[in-house]
Amino acid sequence: MLGVVGLQGCVHHRSFESLTQAATDSHGDVTSQFVLVHLCGVRGSIPSPGLEFAGVGGNTSCVAIAHDGENPSLVLDAGTGLRNLSRLLDGEAFHGTIVLGHLHWDHVIGLPFFSAGDRPDADVQVLLPEQGIDPVDVLSRLMAPPLFPITVADLRGNWQVDSYTEGVSTIEGFQVLARDIPHTAGRTMGLRVSDGHSAIAYLSDHSPHDLGPGADGLGVLHEAAVELVSGVDVLIHDAQYTSHELLTRRSWGHTAAQYCVTLAEHCGVKRVVLFHHDPWRTDEQVVAMRDALALTTAVQVDAAIEGTVIQLSPGTVAHQ
Ligand SMILES: [Zn+2]
Ligand SMILES: [Zn+2]
Repeated sequence: MLGVVGLQGCVHHRSFESLTQAATDSHGDVTSQFVLVHLCGVRGSIPSPGLEFAGVGGNTSCVAIAHDGENPSLVLDAGTGLRNLSRLLDGEAFHGTIVLGHLHWDHVIGLPFFSAGDRPDADVQVLLPEQGIDPVDVLSRLMAPPLFPITVADLRGNWQVDSYTEGVSTIEGFQVLARDIPHTAGRTMGLRVSDGHSAIAYLSDHSPHDLGPGADGLGVLHEAAVELVSGVDVLIHDAQYTSHELLTRRSWGHTAAQYCVTLAEHCGVKRVVLFHHDPWRTDEQVVAMRDALALTTAVQVDAAIEGTVIQLSPGTVAHQ
């Protein structure tokens, strides 16, 4: 199948431009496998209910990745968007791994509500950045009375919670590169995921500003970010603020949308997906931000919209 792929069972069914072209033979038939990247939650910081946010979507960060023809097995972050993965699985149990880029609420709060994982026939591995503390104890700060009725141990199914650190790992048939990137208040990993043919970089929360002003005044490109992003097909990146807003929010751990484009241009990435939208950014404002940026660059600029799917095909060889 070429072009748009629907997100079956999800709350929203929206179109999304195909971000890569599939490999085809002389008859136009697809000859190679895809990677499907489901955007289950695209909002930053806190969910955004309300009509003016409904087009982009109000659920917080969650991206579910699938090999062609399979259910998603690799999930990046577990914000409230994780609930959409249960709907996507349409009654089936989840079997796979959730990699948490960092542990702020908007990236973990979906875990206790993940019905496809909280059932006897589920297999769920959760990986969180090494904190120097037992990983179950870390998650217990989120899930335990009196803050929440149940603990991690109360979840049904086979749950395993472990830590990970920088480096390359093979997870659910994908190569995953993790590097520490600057954010705020806790360790944060940027991630790069590849099936060996195509690759995507995921830097949901990234604040480079403490490193200096940089060429465009938005911060020097961090070497770890450049390593993660160089050569990928698609960059999904923190775009929480406008450059003007950033002037008064430099210590809040995020960046301006312009920075995503600068990073993509520097790293030779052709498509960038603006992600982790500010919770007060209306649909109209997200579109305006995307359109304004698109006028300034040859990079294809898309705004992440909940319920859409990015289809990757073997256009490039991953550089990892
Ligand atoms: Zn966040
Ligand atoms: Zn964060």
